[in-house]
Amino acid sequence: MPADAGAPARPDDAGALWRAARDALIDLAERRDAARALGLLLAELRLRLGTDCRVRGPDEASAPTTFVSLPLQRTGQLLGHLDLDRAVPVQRLEPVLPALVTLLVQHQAQAGDPSALRYSGPEAGLIRSALAGADTFVWEWWIESDWLTDIDQGLRLLGYEVEGGGHTQDHWNALIHPDDRDANHEAYLRHERGEVEVYEHAYRILDVAGQWRWMLERGRIVDRGPDGRPLRMVGTQTDITERRALERAREEAAEAQAASRAKTEFLARMSHELRTPLNAVLGFTQLMQIDRSEPPQPEQARRLQLIREAGEHLLHMINDLLDLTRIESGGLALAPSRVELRELVLQVFALLSDAAARQGVALELVPGPLLGIDADRTRLKQVLINLVSNAIKYNRAGGRVELAVEADADADGTVSIAVTDTGIGIAEEHLVRLFEPFQRGPHERSSIEGTGIGLALTRALVQRMGGAMTVHSRLGEGSVFRVQLPREMA
Ligand code: ADP
Repeated sequence: MPADAGAPARPDDAGALWRAARDALIDLAERRDAARALGLLLAELRLRLGTDCRVRGPDEASAPTTFVSLPLQRTGQLLGHLDLDRAVPVQRLEPVLPALVTLLVQHQAQAGDPSALRYSGPEAGLIRSALAGADTFVWEWWIESDWLTDIDQGLRLLGYEVEGGGHTQDHWNALIHPDDRDANHEAYLRHERGEVEVYEHAYRILDVAGQWRWMLERGRIVDRGPDGRPLRMVGTQTDITERRALERAREEAAEAQAASRAKTEFLARMSHELRTPLNAVLGFTQLMQIDRSEPPQPEQARRLQLIREAGEHLLHMINDLLDLTRIESGGLALAPSRVELRELVLQVFALLSDAAARQGVALELVPGPLLGIDADRTRLKQVLINLVSNAIKYNRAGGRVELAVEADADADGTVSIAVTDTGIGIAEEHLVRLFEPFQRGPHERSSIEGTGIGLALTRALVQRMGGAMTVHSRLGEGSVFRVQLPREMA
């Protein structure tokens, strides 16, 4: 039932007759009443042609009043004759002849002709349920008369009420997405020209809820006239909306994964390439700072120190980025060893004591059990440095940072490290994206230095070590960042 592939244009008077006959045919034949449709078409012909006409079987003798007989053929087989009592210009008859042929075949089918396409016999119910279960229906298209069977099944599949029947090919075509109609017709023409064995096309069609559903239509021309003209086509329609949605989701996920992989590789390569020249800048700066043969003047020494600090900041950022991309690509190897947590925390405090003193923030280790865990010492230290330095940075003068290490009472074999600060806190709307790279919340343009990678890397490291991170914060009161880690590494 490809769109717009109906009969060619005809002269006006014949066109009107054609349409009237076709509508009558569709109306009745849809209700499987080919005999009545045939009668109606003949009545219509009589009226329009102004002469009596009858259909005669191939072996029946003609009536004495017959003036002219026109053979009715399908695929070269003589089905009968149309007998007229008076001469009628053949171009007025021509449009309705295919409809008559079609109807005769239908008529024979209803009368028990074995060539009938209807399902019958014990398998009928089975076939029907199998098709319904597969969201599929079968159609048959009489091309010259543009008469389509079983359109009601299709409409039902789309949720429409089809009481009363009488729906036409035009009805169905009107529901097809306008952008898909031409392609539908093109696909049909390729099959008609014999370029493809099977006509196959997927298109969108409007269901009763106003949603576009995807239909897969497949079919084959099964009857052609002696001159090769296509006469009849049969095929199936299958609702593939869900299948397509699944396929699309899978494709999108694969595309997103590929894009993310490409981004990770790019970042890893960039970070690596940036590090080499930066190390040269830092190395020569340090050499100039300690050069005894040509010691720098005080102003030069100040500038060298600025270069060094900026360089170290950049290197730190690049290293973080490189670590993050390594974790994302699964390329970060861990080196587990026994780590005494109190000892590690005191080391971190010692490293950050200057920074804390500059901010007027006190560092405090809450007394607790002496716990040892199985972890990558360097990476765990990196996690604690990030959390404690944030707790110092986003604090206020006279504030406090407390670090508590506890064996987790709820989860067996887990330790919990909580970093609590009395700082500025984090607004609820910023908490949502806190662990995403380059998210600095309200500090995007603040005087507090940072890049927004620290927390993303911290959480990724914790997760890489088999742990989890949570945060609780109140604006103006402070925050608690909690790391939970297994005591034994998997
Ligand atoms: P950076 O500190 O370099 O900006 P992070 O990834 O470490 O990047 O932190 C991201 C953002 O989270 C910070 O910019 C800040 O807005 C917020 N943040 C992190 N830790 C705290 C904290 N202890 N108190 C308040 N805000 C914090």
